[in-house]
Amino acid sequence: MISSTPVQPRSLERSSSEKRAVDAAIDRALDSRSTSTRFCLSIDVEEYFHAEVFARSVSKESWETRQCRAAPFVERIAAMLAETGNRATFFVLGWCVPRMRSLLRDIAAAGHEIACHGQMHDHLSRMTPTTLTADLRRARGVIEDTLGCRTIGYRAPTFSITRKTAWALDVLLETGFEYDASIFPIRHDRYGVPDAPLGPFRAIAPSGRSIVEFPPMVRRIGPLRLPVGGGGYLRLLPGAIVARALRHCAAQEAPAMLYLHPWELDPDQPRLPLRRMAQWRHRVNLHTTERKLGDLLKRFRFDTAARVLAGVPVTKCFKL
Ligand SMILES: [Zn+2]
Repeated sequence: MISSTPVQPRSLERSSSEKRAVDAAIDRALDSRSTSTRFCLSIDVEEYFHAEVFARSVSKESWETRQCRAAPFVERIAAMLAETGNRATFFVLGWCVPRMRSLLRDIAAAGHEIACHGQMHDHLSRMTPTTLTADLRRARGVIEDTLGCRTIGYRAPTFSITRKTAWALDVLLETGFEYDASIFPIRHDRYGVPDAPLGPFRAIAPSGRSIVEFPPMVRRIGPLRLPVGGGGYLRLLPGAIVARALRHCAAQEAPAMLYLHPWELDPDQPRLPLRRMAQWRHRVNLHTTERKLGDLLKRFRFDTAARVLAGVPVTKCFKL
């Protein structure tokens, strides 16, 4: 449990009584669903060209000149959440904040959580404690100053907190974050801690201090760990497999974390040069994401990471 009081965005446009009414209406809608377990849906708010697969071919200097395409898809996700009475956590890249200021303010005012995805989307293997500290302070500053909400959660670009970058947990603690959602408990070429717990746990940093960790959903099948919690896995797998994994979690009253990116709803995004396999991984089934997301939002109850974590005891500890 990270906090007894959920994060309350300081809306620039709504009174506190209006916000309480919005929250109460969403709570009533969530409580009317058939399962009592609330899952977390998280959206990493970034442009398609921020994806790690383009880190070598798309320079940061060129970002300014590229067409930003994410906002309408972020807006579409927010509308789908409103239509189904769900809440979500938006891990926002600081670079994107000035480019979708009023949309993100509306999202915060609608009761969703605004969390931090860093400023410049660097994989942590290319960073140091000093550069990460600067990146986090810059991102958090732009998010909180522009949107008027407090951020307590962080997701590293490309889930890049691993055993080699465990030092980042100490940086998060020193910069005042209360939870992290960056550790993928699988084996993968770009990320992963293959023996990390599958549900929320306390990640013990090299200093011995700990921070609450909320990993993406992974299904254990015999000796295998199958990632089913979003992104390319959500696009690749039939929706029924993801729904079955959520029903399995619901039966155990276990919280689960799903994630996706706005560019995963955009099949018409420009085709940047990539090797064939990388191109396939980035683009597979982009046209299916919206339909699969819509189905899950209707069938299950989703809330913010901060609220889900506030409702579960997090006692398991795991040292990276
Ligand atoms: Zn990202």
